[in-house]
Amino acid sequence: MSSYQKNKQEFDCADIEEYVQQYLDNVLDEEKKRLFEEHIEYCLPCDKKIEFERRFKEIIRLKAKENLPHETIDKKLKELLENLS
Ligand SMILES: [Zn+2]
Repeated sequence: MSSYQKNKQEFDCADIEEYVQQYLDNVLDEEKKRLFEEHIEYCLPCDKKIEFERRFKEIIRLKAKENLPHETIDKKLKELLENLS
């Protein structure tokens, strides 16, 4: 691997970590979005991470919207974590 160019053409896992929230909020610019999606296409751990974050956000949104009881939220989060392992 050479690093002679500062201008990098690919995202690595650290980049994914950095941009995951922006990606899910759909506020990344076209170029970053493309690099982001390229990475998760071949990187399974990151793909899983995105999936997790996506569902996590969904649960939080449901909580706010439907005012679900804590037990339901806890249960959903637990299921989410179990599915991931
Ligand atoms: Zn990765």
